[in-house]
Amino acid sequence: SLPDQYGVFGNPIQHSKSPIIHALFAEQTGQNLDYRKYLAPLNGFAQSIHQFAESGGLGANVTVPFKIEAFQLADVLSERARMAGAVNTLSFREGKIVGDNTDGAGLVRDIVLNARCPIAGCRVLLLGAGGAARGAILPLLEQNPVRLDIANRTKQKAEDLINLAKREISGGAPIPMQALSWEQLNGNYDVVINATSASLHGDLPPISASIFADRCLAYDMMYGDQVTPFNQFATLAGAQIRDGLGMLVEQAAEAFWIWRGIRPETLKVINALRPRVGV
Ligand code: NDP
Repeated sequence: SLPDQYGVFGNPIQHSKSPIIHALFAEQTGQNLDYRKYLAPLNGFAQSIHQFAESGGLGANVTVPFKIEAFQLADVLSERARMAGAVNTLSFREGKIVGDNTDGAGLVRDIVLNARCPIAGCRVLLLGAGGAARGAILPLLEQNPVRLDIANRTKQKAEDLINLAKREISGGAPIPMQALSWEQLNGNYDVVINATSASLHGDLPPISASIFADRCLAYDMMYGDQVTPFNQFATLAGAQIRDGLGMLVEQAAEAFWIWRGIRPETLKVINALRPRVGV
């Protein structure tokens, strides 16, 4: 029978690793599916998705710059998509578009299961307050850290995220959370996550080595062939480092689980994709 159709929609899309990841998942789990990349016009995302669904597509991933548009397009939203304010996974079911967000869950799985760093009981610092940071908050809080602080260049955006998170989790046991400017950042953390896009530009947020506690995990959501400036700095400060490749594979695995009801083995796929040179 013909393979089930899936795809990833973005602009640009040429460098997306998602088709390789899903092909490896499908091979590993014996699923008959076809996953391709689609370049959606900047002003034609909704139309591209509707066409794909009407032509029999069963699900889609969404990447830059369409995650907010995908959120608006969905008829039904998961709780984590609502909290993230963005959607990276769409399912087309009975004429309805169902939106979810697997990025934050992917991050948490990569930290807890692959890097074997428990978040429970840890002091966690999130650098950045953009889309990736917002999506990470709820999945991080579900792990019961002892505190979660957010530092951002524009402090107001960190404040907004903290307020949103407090509203969302009201009722549960309160986890201390604070918004910080770069100048106010002087605590000591067990897990420091770089969710800024500074590394994309070869920049480093203005952090001091003292934010990294003993045997701390430094996690840069960015990935590539080079060690990022953040991870270079964290290494010098004595931290264990990890880049965002594991998050990328884990968010894909979470989408695969939503669509197919099967969890692929991710470690093999992460290792297959890891560049041979560098770390
Ligand atoms: P956004 O554009 O939504 O947010 C960017 C954030 O970075 C803002 O907080 C911004 O601060 C901050 N920032 C930008 N430039 C600098 C700088 N030079 N110095 C300090 N802070 C800076 O981006 P996203 O949240 O979508 O993405 C953030 C990163 O996460 C990217 O590197 C992206 O590649 C990565 N990512 C990785 C994923 C994975 O699967 N591994 C998935 C999703 C994202 P301000 O508010 O002041 O503008």
